[in-house]
Amino acid sequence: MQGLMMDMPLLISSLAEHAARFHAGREILAVTADNPEHRYTFSDAVSRSKRLAKALQALGLEQGDRVATIAWNDHRHLEIYYGVSGSGLVCHTINPRLFPEQLVFIINHAEDRFICVDPMFVPLLEAIADKISNVEGIIVMTDADHMPDSKLPNLHCYETLLGEQSDDYEWPMLDENAAAALCYTSGTTGDPKGILYSHRSTILHAYASVAPDAMGLASSDTILPVVPLFHVNAWGIPYSAFMAGAKLVLPGPKMGDGEALYQLMDNEDVTMALGVPTVWLALLQYTEQAGKRLDKLERTLVGGAAVPRSMIEAFHKKHDVELRQGWGMTEMSPLGTVNAPKAGLEGLSEDERLDLATKAGRGIFGVEMRIVNDDGEVQPWDGVAYGALQVRGPWICSDYFKLEGKAGSHTDDGWFETGDVATIDPDGYMAITDRTKDVIKSGGEWVSSIDLENCAMGHPGVAEAAVIGVAHEKWTERPLLIVVPKEEGGIEKDSMLDWFDGKVASWWKPDDVVFVSELPHTATGKVKKIELRKQFADYELPTS
Ligand code: AMP
Repeated sequence: MQGLMMDMPLLISSLAEHAARFHAGREILAVTADNPEHRYTFSDAVSRSKRLAKALQALGLEQGDRVATIAWNDHRHLEIYYGVSGSGLVCHTINPRLFPEQLVFIINHAEDRFICVDPMFVPLLEAIADKISNVEGIIVMTDADHMPDSKLPNLHCYETLLGEQSDDYEWPMLDENAAAALCYTSGTTGDPKGILYSHRSTILHAYASVAPDAMGLASSDTILPVVPLFHVNAWGIPYSAFMAGAKLVLPGPKMGDGEALYQLMDNEDVTMALGVPTVWLALLQYTEQAGKRLDKLERTLVGGAAVPRSMIEAFHKKHDVELRQGWGMTEMSPLGTVNAPKAGLEGLSEDERLDLATKAGRGIFGVEMRIVNDDGEVQPWDGVAYGALQVRGPWICSDYFKLEGKAGSHTDDGWFETGDVATIDPDGYMAITDRTKDVIKSGGEWVSSIDLENCAMGHPGVAEAAVIGVAHEKWTERPLLIVVPKEEGGIEKDSMLDWFDGKVASWWKPDDVVFVSELPHTATGKVKKIELRKQFADYELPTS
């Protein structure tokens, strides 16, 4: 017997309608290049999203078409999220820090028809314009007075487009499983892979995120996402904040600036902030030097990379701020676990509490986890046994965009292979012990060791090269290059490092190089990275 409940599709546009009806006057503050303090309300944002939807329709875009963004966190980017997805188009967020070849690959692979771009990223597009000829138009996210002087063909001004439309618009009734947003991971090997979020997965993820033991969002909150809108939808905050009715503070290009973040938190009474460990290091360093305290902040969600114990301690002891660690992936929308305290653990000592807080957290409802050993046997949740972490759930990708199962990312019984190695304790707290991938995570973003090795091997004096991540105070990890020269003493340190200039993104360039006579190899001839990591575990990178 079937239940007798309405079958209403879960749509992103219904979040916009909800926010405009129930939280119309809630404020959104944004920092943009043309205005350091732009303020308006949820109602304004939704009205402008509708005008954008109409403008895109007038440009000839049709349901399912991809509209890309290359932009910081600001109110226009938020409007694009709703105007694009709400009207049945697919919002493809692009990381502006990618190297030009990756940008070209991603834009062409996604078949983006239009790109919305912050004025400061226009030069990025100018540099690759002849390689993305399928893109029909560029919309610069500014007003007519601040339009850049660019020769890019078919350039539009965002504010002019919106100015030509009214907000008299009805969101279309879409299939809840229709694609809503697209985000590429920077591939560890080979090309980046696209994750195609649906309306349904996005709404379910938002429901799960606002729950008390997840992000715990309420209409009384003021949220500062220091996670970029160009990476995994800023951990879904544009959606969950609209669901909860929480005020949004969008830092624009000020993401890495500890002082600016502090000022925003203080001036706007921010109660909840989210980011990767690196941004919080910058903030903590600033508060330490300036003798400031985070009086208004109540809690932070920190994830994307392992969170150091010292950071959890600093937030807790110096600022009385609860730091919740989260773990997730682009493929998971991204939320998988959150480290919230649990009933029954009240008796833990201060030290035990801190130890627990260093773990990635408990699975939130909607995410199932299991760990399996090399033989595919499911391991116990005893906090000791470790294995490859596999997950499944309604906001976890079932495949990559246009790869049709070729990525080998899923098990035969439908679980997604995270590529992480983990333990899970009897209380359900998961801890990442290692990665099966060899990529390096610098400031919350991937650096591909294989790409760097390939580049190094292009140097005429290099016989063999390996790149590993070495712990770094600010960036979590930085790449260390290990080189076997063709001739002993045949390469100067500086010339080896300068070799990467212009060949890889500048922030990928290894921090240092070590010359060795040979690299350890497995039986099949692969470099044994684990051994190298052990050997160089205490390696001190140059501080400059
Ligand atoms: P991304 O898809 O770029 O967000 O990267 C996802 C990966 O980041 C995961 O597979 C983990 O390897 C890593 N990661 C995310 N959160 C954590 C965490 N709390 N601790 C350790 N690693 C993490």
